[in-house]
Amino acid sequence: MTDCIFCQIVRGERSAYKVYEDAETLAFLDLFPLVEGHTLVIPKAHYIRLQDLNPDLTARVAQAVRAVTEKLEKAFSAPATTIGINNGPAAGQVVPHLHVHILPRYENDGGGTVHSIVRTSPKRSLEEICNLIAKSR
Ligand code: AMP
Ligand code: ZN
Repeated sequence: MTDCIFCQIVRGERSAYKVYEDAETLAFLDLFPLVEGHTLVIPKAHYIRLQDLNPDLTARVAQAVRAVTEKLEKAFSAPATTIGINNGPAAGQVVPHLHVHILPRYENDGGGTVHSIVRTSPKRSLEEICNLIAKSR
């Protein structure tokens, strides 16, 4: 997509601090980092959400996320990382080109966990919820 800022980065029309690249994926520093080393991994092709990727590209993005995670933990001597996708506008996705956030994490860095993102008490039983998901296609 011509007006997508991440496609512009892929095409070299917009600058970015690139930290990893292969044939199908690119990783660059987030322009407004939440922590030193906050990095975004994207497929070079324009897809909005994770489920829009075919299985092969899904695997390639996962591999790039793994490689960048290793690089970040080594570069910043970080003992951990938080890895996440805002997968759709309702989840907070602002840039409509799939990107995986990787954040170096440290003991007592004051940050939250995945458990702090949302807290809506289920109204249905776990059995009902399990059946609902299992039947969904
Ligand atoms: P999200 O809410 O998951 O869509 O997050 C989009 C992320 O992209 C935010 O963390 C922004 O700081 C980041 N961002 C926006 N524009 C740029 C840019 N030109 N280069 C790098 N990161 C960007
Ligand atoms: Zn794009």
